[in-house]
Order: sequence, then C-alpha cells, then structure tokens
Amino acid sequence: MKPNTESHPQGAAVDRNQPLFERARAVIPGGVNSPVRAFRAVGGIPRFIERAQGAYLWDANGQRFIDYIGSWGPMILGHGHPAVIDAVQRAITDGLSYGAPTAREIELSEAILALLPSMEMVRLVSSGTEAAMSALRLARGATGRKMIVKFEGCYHGHADALLVKAGSGLATFGHPTSAGVPEEVVEHTLVLEYNNLTQLEEAFALHGKEIAGLIIEAIAGNMNFVRATPAFARRCRELCTQHGALLIFDEVMTGFRVCLHGVQGLLGIRPDLTVLGKVIGGGMPLAAFGGPRALMEQLAPLGPVYQAGTLSGNPVATACGLATLREVAKPGFFEALATRTRALIDGLRTAAQAEGLAFSADSEGGMFGFFLLPELPANYSAVMKSDGMQFKTLFHGLLERGVYVAPALYEAGFVSAAHSNEDIAQTVAAARESFKALKR
Ligand SMILES: *Cc1c(COP(=O)(O)O)cnc(C)c1O
Repeated sequence: MKPNTESHPQGAAVDRNQPLFERARAVIPGGVNSPVRAFRAVGGIPRFIERAQGAYLWDANGQRFIDYIGSWGPMILGHGHPAVIDAVQRAITDGLSYGAPTAREIELSEAILALLPSMEMVRLVSSGTEAAMSALRLARGATGRKMIVKFEGCYHGHADALLVKAGSGLATFGHPTSAGVPEEVVEHTLVLEYNNLTQLEEAFALHGKEIAGLIIEAIAGNMNFVRATPAFARRCRELCTQHGALLIFDEVMTGFRVCLHGVQGLLGIRPDLTVLGKVIGGGMPLAAFGGPRALMEQLAPLGPVYQAGTLSGNPVATACGLATLREVAKPGFFEALATRTRALIDGLRTAAQAEGLAFSADSEGGMFGFFLLPELPANYSAVMKSDGMQFKTLFHGLLERGVYVAPALYEAGFVSAAHSNEDIAQTVAAARESFKALKR
C-alpha cells in the first residue's frame, strides 16, 4: 500500500501542518490544548485536523487518515453521524445554554440509568476530570473518611489528589506526578499496583477504616489496554464492602464503549459510584457520575457535599449524547462493533507474526490495545517494558500510510461503527508494510 496522497492538492512537498504548528506553539503551550496531542513521544509534527467524516480525518494537507483515536473515545458512531448531527442542529436553534433545568437532562439521565442498574441517580457535568473529582469528594463526604485508593497506570483526570504515583514501599503513600501539587494534597492517596492482590489485601488490612473510596478502571485504557482480572475486581468489591469504603468504577472510557452495560456489566460487579464521560457526550463536553439514591442525595442542593457547574447538562451536549446513546442501544450494535474490532487486532497479530515480531493484543467491544510484547501485560510496569523506539517507527509507518493511531504507547485505540471491513483491511495492509521496518 502506497502512502495516501490521493486527495493531496499540491503533492507531498508543501506541508501545511508545519506552519500551523509554529503559529500554535507561539500562543498555546506546546501548540496543543492537551499534552498527548503533541507527538512528543513519537516525534514529528502533529497533524492539524480540518474535518472528519465517518471513519476518517483529513489534515491541513488534505491527507486522509483512518481514525483509531475517535477523539480519545467519544466518537463511537464515527464522525458526522446523521442522527447526531440532526439532533445537535435542532438543539442549537433553540439556544446554546440556559443555566436552568431542561427536559432533555431528564431524558439523558433516564437513558443512562436504564442501562446501568448500579446507578439510581446521576449528576451531569462537563468533563471526566470533573466527574471523577466530584465522585471522590462525594465518597469522602459520605463516609467522613479521607483516604483514597488508586492504581498505578489508571488515569482519572487531572484533579490534584489523583496526580500521584506509587511510593517506594508496599502500601505506602504516593508522590505528586505534577509540579504544583503539594505533597499534603496527595498524602491521603494510596497508590497500589494494578492486579496485585497481595498489596490490595495489605492496604485494607492496614488502612481499611480510613479508606473513603477505591477508584479503578476495571479495564484500564490509560496504560494502553489492561484488564483487571475478574478475581482482582471481585476482591476490590469485597474489601470495600467489608471495610465500609465505596467502590468507584471509572467508566469514562469504558462506559457505552466496551458493551452497553459497561465493565460493571461484563464483570457482574455493582460499584457504589460510577464515573462516565466520553461516549455519553458523543463528542460534546459532557460527563457524569452516579450511584444509589441515598449516596447521591448527599450532593448540594440536598446534602452537604458541594458540586456545581455553569454549563452542566448543557442543552446541545445533552442532545448530542442522547442521540449517540440511542444509536448504541440498538440491537446488535455492540456485536457488530466487537466483531470488527476483533478482526482488526487479529489482522494486526497475523501481520506482526509473519514478520517474526513479538506482538500481543486484546479488545472488548470497540476498544482495543496492542503491544510489541510477547504477552499481554498485567500492570503498568509490564506495559513500560514496551520498546518506545519500535513503537515510534510503527506509528510513523502507519501515519504515512494514512492510519492514525494514538501517538503514544500508553493509550487504548478505538474502532467506530463507521469503520468498514475495507478500512480494517487497509489498516492491516498498512501495518504489514510498517512492521517490515521494525527490528526483530
Ligand atoms: C479520559 C478519562 C478521564 C478524564 O476525562 P476528561 O474528559 O479528559 O477530563 C477520566 N478517567 C478516564 C478513565 C478517562 O479515560
């Protein structure tokens, strides 16, 4: 397969991304409004996107890419789905924001609650960061405890208390991973190794009575794609119940992405609080958190836990989210998406093995991950064993051939309902060529 320049107006000589990147860097730190967009892990110039339709993005050069980022998860229907565009256009003409309640917020809340039976009430917010931060405040407020348990490699947004990495010893307190976060702010955050039952047991044995909540991505999508084992996830549930701590499933990425009922549905585990985002906004800024009524009624204006937002439940965002949820809830949607996604990773595996490369991959619903490792990793330090140089070569090989995957090793990939068998076949062909440049 040749590099895709079919719709490139001037041929490959004039790069319009480069000058845009120069201008962007003059006014925006790093030229980007979220760090992973900057290509720093892989080098090169980020592509400035001009438009998107279906499974494709077009950059400033007019080069077309098959999109496996999907805005980092939300675009499960592909770009520009007619039902979503129609709902958004109709919503826009009725006003952009009111700062007062609307019927559509009820409709979206009811749609979410009908699919996630662990939740009886939900609060809508604007970003996953905000939702996770608010869920933790609620867990602390409701339990009257301070301590939070999280796992290394799981990302729950950039709230201060969550920007923390593991300390040196077993079940010790972490250190901030960002400047500007005081040690005191993370001194109540305990960071454990993902899938490590011994550490989990020890943490609860030592600190059980102080733990307000345990937050986990039960399929972690922020260290590429790593599953919690069913036994580990079950033990999280049991220990939280035993010690009166709240189990918080961060399903910002997995909610309505791995199946219609989230990882909680797949595992048959009922968390106390669930955090949602990405797909529930369908590409607009919308996120949510929810749980049992008694817990959620601790929130303002009913209870003492304060939480608010000027644009929360925005009428355009709720229209977009609702139209998206209606599509994904149609019979057969996830079966078709999962089949397509498996075809992609099976194709990639076969192509890599034909080149004698170490390769492993996994997927659930429309979310996938692949590693240039012989076996699937079970935690962050195993993911870290991936060869960054090999990945960089692969990334640029794919990009050159019109396939856009995340520009970092530590990100999951996403297939949308708009990806056709032909798109998958083209991607596998591009990978087969790109793998040839990798050293065995
Ligand atoms: C993306 C993500 C977040 C943060 O959501 P934002 O909308 O980017 O603030 C939180 N948790 C998980 C699991 C995510 O994938």
